[in-house]
Amino acid sequence: MASDRRFQCLAIRAPRGATTTEIDWADGHKAVYPNVILRGYCPCAGCQGHTGTIRFIEPSANQRELEDLEVVGNYALQLKWFDGHDTGLYSYRYLRALCQCAECHPAAADPTAAGTHPDLPRV
Ligand SMILES: [Zn+2]
Ligand SMILES: [Zn+2]
Repeated sequence: MASDRRFQCLAIRAPRGATTTEIDWADGHKAVYPNVILRGYCPCAGCQGHTGTIRFIEPSANQRELEDLEVVGNYALQLKWFDGHDTGLYSYRYLRALCQCAECHPAAADPTAAGTHPDLPRV
């Protein structure tokens, strides 16, 4: 459903040196992503393998800084990390499921503690 406004990205804020990336979606939702979560849930096959549930992989210090990002088509972001890792293609659908704002993700649930994130679709 390409016309679904929940999966249309209006603006991305990822200032250099920041520890959090923010995305404004076309349905008005302002999403918040700590970079440690983005990297820990990198969806690429190198990080997640080819099968099984998406899981959180604790990133080291230089894996938490975003070097660059690129919009791929109109459906995904490619994130490039400070350590050179750039194979993660984060579909908008994936990013919506990963949102860590108070509304989507109440503070009681620690995304890094659970180890897996069964809500995340495979991309
Ligand atoms: Zn990866
Ligand atoms: Zn949210």
